[in-house]
Amino acid sequence: MMRYDGKSVLITGAATGIGRATALAFAREGAKVMIGDYNDAAEDTVDAIKAEGGTAAFTPCDVSKRDDVDALVAAAVKQHGGLDAAFNNAGVFPPEQMFADFDEEAFDRTIAINLKGVFLCMKVQLPVMVKQGKGAIVNTSSVGGVIANPGMAPYIASKHGVLGLTRTAAIEYVKLGVRINAICPGFVRTPMTEPWFQREGFLEAFLPTSPIGRPANPEEMSGTVLHLCSDEASFTNGAVIIVDGGQTAI
Ligand code: NAP
Repeated sequence: MMRYDGKSVLITGAATGIGRATALAFAREGAKVMIGDYNDAAEDTVDAIKAEGGTAAFTPCDVSKRDDVDALVAAAVKQHGGLDAAFNNAGVFPPEQMFADFDEEAFDRTIAINLKGVFLCMKVQLPVMVKQGKGAIVNTSSVGGVIANPGMAPYIASKHGVLGLTRTAAIEYVKLGVRINAICPGFVRTPMTEPWFQREGFLEAFLPTSPIGRPANPEEMSGTVLHLCSDEASFTNGAVIIVDGGQTAI
């Protein structure tokens, strides 16, 4: 018997990076995975899961659009028989700019996807879980949800906001059977951060700020998410789990 045998798990932003690694990890523990992403490469994640004998499906979804989120949650419930856990992870990172120069359109898009996207996902997932009397949600914030970095105003604001949404929903819904937590990844090597690795001098500047002395692999985020969605974390609610190799402990 595996930890997630037969459980229905929804993951957004699982075409690549942290979401893909976590979708594979859930499936390896027996979960039936529904992926919502606007990147069609999510089909590759589904194929990779199926190649290992797991169960997965993909529903194209822009998390900033209510109709898309409705369709995604409905697909998980219909195809996989309910919604035991959700990992609201889709996000974008806008080009860095000084605060006063920040492009308004880039600001709006970042907030729409990173913050409103998490709001919409929870808004649609919660009634399903409340009806079941059980469920677990994990939202992806960032170390940018607890500290600031220059040039990233809307990203930092969106990730701080994710913690606000997480904590508010957590205290409202825990007595209705739903636990809600957030993870704050540190620096993870994914398609989102790959451009930074190409910048001259970036790694040399980053490494001294990292006690563990390296960026994370996406797989290193998955264990925390699987733990938070499991019964092993039955008393963990409204928690903000920083997974950063010690970066914010300095
Ligand atoms: P990633 O590899 O770029 O994965 C993000 C996925 O979300 C991509 O498939 C992306 O599609 C998708 N997506 C973007 N906007 C969407 C939307 N509106 N609707 C549905 N899907 C959407 O990045 P990652 O590094 O794994 O990031 C995953 C999460 O971790 C994000 O929330 C990010 O902010 C957070 N995070 C990452 C790091 C890090 O160092 N990598 C650190 C802290 C927090 P496209 O590829 O088409 O954009």
